[in-house]
Amino acid sequence: MSEAAFTRSPVLKPIGVLGGTFDPIHYGHLRLAQQAAEQLTLQEVRFIPAGEPYHRAPGLASGTSGAHRTEMVRRAIGNNNLFRVDTRDLERGGATYTFDTLVGLRSELGNQVPIFVLLGADAFALLETWHRWRELFDLCHFGVAQRPGAELWRERVGGELAETLRVRERADAQQLSATPAGNVVTITMTPLEISATAIREQLSRGASPRYLLPDAVLEYIVANELYLEGSR
Ligand code: ATP
Repeated sequence: MSEAAFTRSPVLKPIGVLGGTFDPIHYGHLRLAQQAAEQLTLQEVRFIPAGEPYHRAPGLASGTSGAHRTEMVRRAIGNNNLFRVDTRDLERGGATYTFDTLVGLRSELGNQVPIFVLLGADAFALLETWHRWRELFDLCHFGVAQRPGAELWRERVGGELAETLRVRERADAQQLSATPAGNVVTITMTPLEISATAIREQLSRGASPRYLLPDAVLEYIVANELYLEGSR
């Protein structure tokens, strides 16, 4: 056996990071995490609720408290021991930048373990608007899932992000587990046309979003009277 075989570091199973407002968490998020965990052989997926205040589309009410959003994520995860909630972005306070989240994770986990930031194609298409986006490729890989309504995202991506994709995209996700950061892979996901916006809208007009999100989350929403007209 060569000397290198003795000194090579053990293969580290990657970590998945799913950031979101989770206002509320729904089956779109959970399926994305589940399918990414299988396809990327993740050791865990961290659900990281965005800090407050976060920005919504103009005209919509301001977001639900971090405490409520965290508790809904906790209930949605239930006893899935691959999933965990990580409240670092809420604890840091101020605007949430994925760059800061990843710097924090790297200081905790080290530079060797592969980290995959998991996100829908709608979010990835806007990557160029993210704080220090080019540097993110030094900190993580991206696992991009198709999302109904965002099928044409590649056609909308131009300029530097298109070039970044051309250089960094890889077809074989398994290969990436050998490198800590720097590439983009597609996550194959059951298309689920579910959004938190639609769920909030249904609740505010008294319709039931049942079967779009876990019952445990819906029960929490009802018990705490979230998303009713004018409530927060
Ligand atoms: P909102 O409707 O309030 O904008 P959302 O449903 O998009 O919320 P977020 O918490 O903003 O949920 O999403 C977190 C991440 O999960 C984003 O990267 C988003 O693209 C992804 N995501 C959310 N819903 C789906 C879905 N149905 N299919 C695939 N990805 C999804």
